[in-house]
Amino acid sequence: MHVYGNYDKNAQYTPETIIWGHRLREGQEWIEYLLEFLAVLAGYDYNFGVYTDEYIVPKRLGLRRFVFYDENEKSPDLRDEDAVKKLKERLAHYVQANGHPVEDIIQQIRSLIRSFAIIEKNRSWYAKSLFPVHEEFILWEALRKGSKRNTYRDDLTQLSLHELDKGIEFFARNFFARGGELYYLMISAGTVTKPLWRTGIASRFKTLLRDSHWTLGSIASIINQAWVDLTKSDGKAEDIVKGKPGWLPDPTCPLYTYFAEDLYNLLDNQLDELECLELVAHLICFHIIIYIYHRAHPKNCSDSTLHQSDRCLQNCRPEILIDLPGDNDGQIIRSISANLLKRHERWQIDQVRHFVQNRVTLSIHQHPNAKPIDIVERLADEYFGNIRQTMRSEFQQSIGKLRQRAAKMKNEEIIEELINLMYDALASNFQRHFLGIHRRLGRAIGLIAPQRGPQPRFVIGDTLLKTLTMVIVPSGGTLPFSKFLEHLYQRYGVIIGPDEAKQTGLINRFAVNEGAFARNRDRFLNRMKYAGLLTQYSDATAMVHRP
Ligand SMILES: [Zn+2]
Repeated sequence: MHVYGNYDKNAQYTPETIIWGHRLREGQEWIEYLLEFLAVLAGYDYNFGVYTDEYIVPKRLGLRRFVFYDENEKSPDLRDEDAVKKLKERLAHYVQANGHPVEDIIQQIRSLIRSFAIIEKNRSWYAKSLFPVHEEFILWEALRKGSKRNTYRDDLTQLSLHELDKGIEFFARNFFARGGELYYLMISAGTVTKPLWRTGIASRFKTLLRDSHWTLGSIASIINQAWVDLTKSDGKAEDIVKGKPGWLPDPTCPLYTYFAEDLYNLLDNQLDELECLELVAHLICFHIIIYIYHRAHPKNCSDSTLHQSDRCLQNCRPEILIDLPGDNDGQIIRSISANLLKRHERWQIDQVRHFVQNRVTLSIHQHPNAKPIDIVERLADEYFGNIRQTMRSEFQQSIGKLRQRAAKMKNEEIIEELINLMYDALASNFQRHFLGIHRRLGRAIGLIAPQRGPQPRFVIGDTLLKTLTMVIVPSGGTLPFSKFLEHLYQRYGVIIGPDEAKQTGLINRFAVNEGAFARNRDRFLNRMKYAGLLTQYSDATAMVHRP
C-alpha cells in the first residue's frame, strides 16, 4: 500500500481507514474541516509537506473561556468560574475606561469576539469555536473528561492557577477527527510537483490569517496572553498542543492535484476575507465528498497503478446528477438523482465488504495448511482494535458455533460465512461513524437536500455554486456555459444537461427522454443568470463569469 504521511505499522486501522485514509469521522462538523486544516497549516508555519516533527497549536483556553463561559454554560464548573473571574480582574488593569465602568468595556469586547462564534449548539465552552477571522481565533479541540458526571467540589483555594485548566484534553479527536489533517495532506501530496501552487496557497492563507483583521487578532491575543501569564506565574503551564498528521492513501492520485489547483484558483480573488474563508470551507467539504465517492467506486480495486494517472478519474468518476426544481419532468430528474445518491452510499458499503472479502481470501490462500477459521480469527485481531466489545464477543460466539458445524460444511461455505461474520462485526462501526459523512457534509454545503425528510438527492446551493464558479473560471476571465458544464462533469462527475447524461449512460440506463435533461440544463442556466454568474448574449451564447 502506498501512503503519504505518518503510517504506523503497529496500529490497528479499521477497513474504512485503510480505504479512505486516517481519517474521516462523522462527528466532525463541516466547518471543523476548515478549522482543523487551518490549525495544522498555521501549526507548520504555513508550509505544506510531510513532516516527521509535530505541528504546534496554542491551546488558547484563556480566550475560549473568556468568550464562551457564562451563566448559561452547559457544563458549569467552579474552576472555570474562578478562572474567568481572575482573568477579568487581570484584564481590568489593561483597560483605559475614560470614566466608563471597566466591566462594561470588558463585556463589550467579549460580545464583539463572541459575534464570531460558529459552533454553539449543545456544546460545553471548551468545545465551542470561533470563525477563523485571524490566526489568534483558531481554537483547537478541547475536552474536559467526565465534566457532565462529576462537578468539581473540592476547595478551590487549594488549587494554583494552572490547575484550573487541569483535566482538559486536546486529543480526544471527537470533533477534530483528523478530516482537516487529511485535507492538509491532500494539498501537500497534490503540490509535490507544483511548487508554485504550494507556496501560493500557503502564502495566501498566511495573509488571510495574519494580515487581515489584525486588530481583532491583537485583542484576542492580549486576552489569551493575560491568562497564560497568570498561569505561568508558577512556572508549570505550557500553552501549546502538538499534533502529528495521519496518512493518506495513494499519494499520486491526480485528484489531489486537482484539489490543489481548485484551491489555488479560489484563493485568487478580490472577495472580503470572511467570505473567502466561507467559500474555502465549502470547497473543502465538496472535495471530501468527491474523494469519498472516488475511492468508493467499484473500479477502485486493488490495482496499485490505477491512481498514478488520470485513468483513475475516468474509471472512478462519481455520478452527481443535480436536480434543479422545475415543473412536470422535474420528478424524473429528482428520482434519478435520489437513486444515484443511494448508489454512492451502497458503493461505500460494498467497498468495505470487498475489502474484508479480499483480506480473508488472501490470508487463507497464503496459509494453505491452516484451518480457515483459525486464520480468520487471527486476522480479525488486526482489525478489531477500535470496534466495540459487544461486536467482538458476538463475533467470537458465532465463530464458536461455526466450529461446531464446520465438519459438515464445504470449504467454500465456511469461507463465505467467515467473510460475512467478519464483515458484520466491522460494519457496525463503519455505519455508525463513516457512512453518514457524505450526507452530513453534503447537506451542510448545499449539495444534498432536503435537510430532513424523504428522497435525499443532489442539488446545488448558491454558495456552493459561487464557490465552483470561482474555482473553474479564472479571475477576470469568462468561459462558455457548455465548457463550464463539461468541466463540472470531467473533474467531479457533476451531471446537469443531456451531454453529460449521455456520456455517463444515464439516458439509456433509466430510459429517459433527453428533453428532461435539456430542461434541467435550462433551469441551471437561469439559476446562474439570477445569481449574477452568467451573461446570455443570444440563444447560442452564454458566458459564465465570476460574480
Ligand atoms: Zn485516484
